[in-house]
This record gives sequence, structure tokens and C-alpha cells, in this order.
Amino acid sequence: MPYISTRDGRKPPERLAFEDVLLAGLAGDGGLYVPDAWPRLEAATLRALRGESYAAVAAAVTAPFIEGVLAPAEWRALLDEVYGGFVHAAVAPLKELGPSLWLMELFHGPTLAFKDYALQLLGPLFDRVLTRRRERVTVIGATSGDTGSAAIAALRDRASADIFILYPHGRISDVQRRQMTTVPAANVHAVAVEGTFDDCQDLVKAMFADAGFRAALNLSAVNSINWARIMAQVVYYVAAAVALGAPDRPVAFAVPTGNFGNIYAAHVARRMGLPIAQLVIGTNRNDILARFIRDGKMTIGAVEPSLSPSMDIQVSSNFERLYFELAGRDGAAVAQAFRDFRQSGTLPTDAALWQEAKTLFAAHRVDDAAISATIAQTFRDTGELLDPHSAVAVAAARAVKRDPAVPMVALACAHPAKFPEAVERAAGVRPALPPRLADLMTQPERIAVLPNDLASVERFIRERARTVQKERTPLPCG
Ligand SMILES: *Cc1c(COP(=O)(O)O)cnc(C)c1O
Repeated sequence: MPYISTRDGRKPPERLAFEDVLLAGLAGDGGLYVPDAWPRLEAATLRALRGESYAAVAAAVTAPFIEGVLAPAEWRALLDEVYGGFVHAAVAPLKELGPSLWLMELFHGPTLAFKDYALQLLGPLFDRVLTRRRERVTVIGATSGDTGSAAIAALRDRASADIFILYPHGRISDVQRRQMTTVPAANVHAVAVEGTFDDCQDLVKAMFADAGFRAALNLSAVNSINWARIMAQVVYYVAAAVALGAPDRPVAFAVPTGNFGNIYAAHVARRMGLPIAQLVIGTNRNDILARFIRDGKMTIGAVEPSLSPSMDIQVSSNFERLYFELAGRDGAAVAQAFRDFRQSGTLPTDAALWQEAKTLFAAHRVDDAAISATIAQTFRDTGELLDPHSAVAVAAARAVKRDPAVPMVALACAHPAKFPEAVERAAGVRPALPPRLADLMTQPERIAVLPNDLASVERFIRERARTVQKERTPLPCG
């Protein structure tokens, strides 16, 4: 499957192979990579997946995207190994919360958030591709809390990569911070930036845009802008839908949304043929996406801290992938629109584009009071402790569920023990960390605090990265 950049205005656009897209993350023109076409998941394929393991579903979903990277048997062995390492046998188990309302638990990986489902796969994939190419990369990423620790868990101690994660100083939970700052690996660097998540994300984009820096350090990104992460996230939507009766019965999903990566993966599943009746974007008080769906204007507001910090985002990077599609895959128009967005704070949209977006997505804003109320009520009614992000999903699912006959799956994107204060305040019960993380709160931390300033961050990285100064040659695409 060849990939193109959302901002490539050439006709035809440059087509890249999966490997290059995997390693680059963000395109050189500032765009995001998307597949040239959507492969189909036929009804017969979906039916054949009933009762199969998560790794088997992953193999079926990812096969057309990774074509040619690893031999099918090797790829399948890797999937078995990766998802066999998750602590729950079902990997992404479903729990019934109420009539036609399900919770999909996506916190059974090493760092207790859904980010593990993709990053645990990306780690060994990076390593294999880089080792084969005799290359090393410097992975940089911005995190609103959970991506950082998941990326670090995936890449720690790997000879092929150094990893630098920027997070907003003082704006993530203690558990989230400690999952990054207590990792003793020499190739791991957690950087606290005096700013918001959007500032961190801007710094990462600016480093990618700095061609000299990018080449010297052989930069790579594992943020949710990396196509391979989206691909890996498509898997659990398919797994859940098949478990609930797809392709013979449609399903709906409610997704707590920040950078739009997770829900975009659901949209990809739908494009591939999964019968999804409704996709619900749940936002917290940082509601740019909900406002867009409501009145068609995407205007950046100030980022406000909330009980669900991994969603404290105003610029949802992956939205560009949807925009590209809604704008008729016109790379030049997308490049212009996102330049305007950056300059004016408002994304140029028109009535047709808004209409189409509204057809594809429903949205609901869940403020802190509603998050707490949902945690409390769900605990009372079902005995389940929701983390604040999962509470956004459940509240949004209840608020906008359209068809009572269609099972609605709310995504539990983090373990409640990642956000113990918020959960305890709402439910009156303090969630315990799983045994595998029991000593997290007592291990020593390594913290670097840097100003929100590109030169300072680049200097810090240059001084610590082990990377060679050699440039990658893109592979020809076949
Ligand atoms: C990352 C994250 C989100 C937001 O997901 P996006 O893909 O950025 O929309 C929501 N909840 C939790 C717990 C997360 O870690």
C-alpha cells in the first residue's frame, strides 16, 4: 500500500512505502501520511474472525497496510508476541455497562492507557526496520500524558533509537509523569516544557520543519500523527464489532477525543467496510471539535486544564487526515487551509465540508462536573471505576446514542489508577495501581525542565542524542 502526504499538491503526489512513513511520522511538507486508497474488509473476512484471537484480528486488519515489510508469518509471530504480553487474555475486553451499552477496556498494556495497543507494536517494528537498514533514529514526541510513557515503554533500551518526550510541565498526573521520569534507560529523556501540550506539539512540529536539525538527528515521530499507530488502533474497533455481531449487526463507538487519532482509526475501520452506525466524539471542556460539529467553525481557544488531561488539546492534529478526505484529497488546498489555520486560528471550512463531517460524527462536550458525576453514577450502578477520560466516553455515549438497537461501545482509554485523585473524589474509592506498577511512586525521578523555546529544546536534544549525521534514502515504492 503506497502512502501520500495530506499536503502534497503535486499531481500525482509522491508515493511512499510503509517503512518510510513509519520512520518519518510527519511528512517533510508538514502534512500527515494517509494510504493512497482504502483496502476493503469483506464481510466474509469479518465473519471468519469470530472467535479468533486479538492477534489474528490484527493480522487481518493490518495485512494490506504493511505489505512487503515483513513476511506474513514473521508479522503474525510479532503480533502474537506483542499482544500475548498484555495482561488480559482478551487484550481489549468488553464489559456490559447497561442495556446496549458496552465498555471496551484498553488499559491492559504496560502503561495502562490505550496508547500501548499501538506503541507496543511500533517499538519492535521500528527496531526491526532500523536494524535491517543499519540506521538509528532520534524519536521526538509531545505528550499530553499517556503517549509519552507508552512510547518510552516501547523504545526503552533499544539500540536503534533515542527517545525525547516533551510534556507540559505540571499539567499531567503524578502517575503519568513518573511513568516517564523513573525509567532508568540511557536512551530515554523526558523533558518538561514550561507550556501547554499544544506548545509541546508545536515544538515537535517546528523541529521537524527545521530541515538541518531533522536530517542531523534523523528525526522520527511516534506521536498519534504516525500512520502506523492509526493502523494498529483500527484493530480493536474491528475486534469489538466482530464480537458484537459484525458484519451482520452494526455497532457504534464513543471515543474520548483529543488529538483525533483514536476516533480517526474508527473512521478508517468504517471506510474499510466495518458497519459502524455512529461515531461519537467525546470532548472535555476543551471542546473545539464539539463546537465544530455544532456550528461548523473550527476556531482555536485557550487550552484549559481539566480532569482528563490527555484531552486538554485545542489543535487536533489528526483532524487534518479527515479534512484531506473531505476536501477531495486536494493536497494543495489542505496545505493552504492549515497554513491559514496556523496564522488566523480558524480553519477554513465550508457548508458542504461541515455537513459531511456532521454526517460522519456526532459530538458531545463533557465538563468536569459531568465527568465526576459519570464516575460516581457508573460506580454506584455497576461497580466499575472509570478514569476521567473513559467517563467522557460513557457520558457522551449516553447523551447522543441514536439507535437503542445498536450496541454502543464506550472506550475506556486509561486505567482509573492513572488518575487516582479525580476518581477518588468522584467515587469515594481510591483505585489501586496494578501489581506490575506497585513501586512506581517510590522510584527516583530524572526531570529536565526547559523553557517553551525551540532553540533551548534543540540544544538539549543535540547534546544528548547518539544519532549519526547520515540522511535516509527513501525506498522506492512498489
Ligand atoms: C491520548 C488519550 C486520549 C485522546 O486520544 P486521541 O487519539 O489523542 O484523540 C484520550 N484518553 C486517554 C486516556 C488518552 O491517553
